[in-house]
Amino acid sequence: MMRDLDPSTVVVHAGRPARVADAPMGGSPVFTSTYVAGGEVGYGRFGNEAWAAFEETLGALEGGRCLSFASGMAAAAAVCDLVPVGGRVVAPQHAYNGVLALLDQQVAAGRLSLDRVSVVDTAAVSAAVAGADLLWLESPTNPAMEVADLPALAAAGRRAGATVVVDNTFATPLLQQPLSMGADIVVHSATKFIAGHSDVVLGAVVTKTDEHWSALELRRRSQGAIPGPMEAWLALRGFRTLALRLERAQSNAAFLAARLLEHPRVSRVRYPGLPEDPGHARAAAQMSGFGAILAFELGGDADGAQHVCESTNLWVHATSLGGVESTLERRRRWPIEVPTIPTDLIRLSVGIEHPDDLWADLAQALKS
Ligand SMILES: *Cc1c(COP(=O)(O)O)cnc(C)c1O
Repeated sequence: MMRDLDPSTVVVHAGRPARVADAPMGGSPVFTSTYVAGGEVGYGRFGNEAWAAFEETLGALEGGRCLSFASGMAAAAAVCDLVPVGGRVVAPQHAYNGVLALLDQQVAAGRLSLDRVSVVDTAAVSAAVAGADLLWLESPTNPAMEVADLPALAAAGRRAGATVVVDNTFATPLLQQPLSMGADIVVHSATKFIAGHSDVVLGAVVTKTDEHWSALELRRRSQGAIPGPMEAWLALRGFRTLALRLERAQSNAAFLAARLLEHPRVSRVRYPGLPEDPGHARAAAQMSGFGAILAFELGGDADGAQHVCESTNLWVHATSLGGVESTLERRRRWPIEVPTIPTDLIRLSVGIEHPDDLWADLAQALKS
């Protein structure tokens, strides 16, 4: 029944308690480490009502079965653990730096081998994936904002027999559903847009098959990277307004991208919603909106970019993204950021404030 509804309706109504007399409107976090014997759950590391409600909602939106994890990285680590020892992974040149660092650690430990490819180069990814166990994709990529041709790459990965994973954090399940484009597993940092209020760290996977779900559930219970009940509950509470938040944030992002493009200090704007962006046609084909993250550069002026980040009054100079508050940062301030990300690249996470206030503060910081 839920499948026929618009995703913006599903996100409000999925994962609710049954409508019986005096049932609460929403579920609650259940604070318990153990359960009375004889039931299906048994212990707090194996299940919680708040996880289940969150998972039902995200699973309904992505069109698969969901498992929540302690963080996006815990979810990513569980998926990487599916690769057999000695296996090979193909991953993007640019992607969330924590995932790339995790893969590098696995290579250093001798657990797997890794090939990094540009996700915009469909032919190169398709060639690299031959004989690989896992193809890790992200689109749009953090923070380069590149757009991968997900249907083509998922098809290439499947032909090669690789498990195809898409980190869908930037797009959210409302703008892009990778399982419907042929991916096997979707990964989310629910910390970002899904929870949406900069007060929760949470992750999730969504799988197409029961086999992948069971393999990942086994890892969650044995490796113990479980969410707290309160975190899962807060994330679901935030999730309910995702459609509204995204609508405002992405129209703000489009407005700011156009303003930045005209600014004399700005040498490049990276936002797939701009018609001149190299990822525009692909994003228009596979996403139902262009999202609320963008990046821009200042002609190589890294010190100037750092200064801009430190000169805003309304925008918060902070890492992370997807909150109702607009934030910005120069990504290369992090030592683990990929060295081919420009030193002067500023990533904007656009919130739901008034666009004129956001532009006035950014313009003021660019003048300083
Ligand atoms: C933040 C982020 C992650 C990691 O998620 P955490 O919840 O911080 O562990 C993974 N992928 C992307 C694209 C992210 O932005």
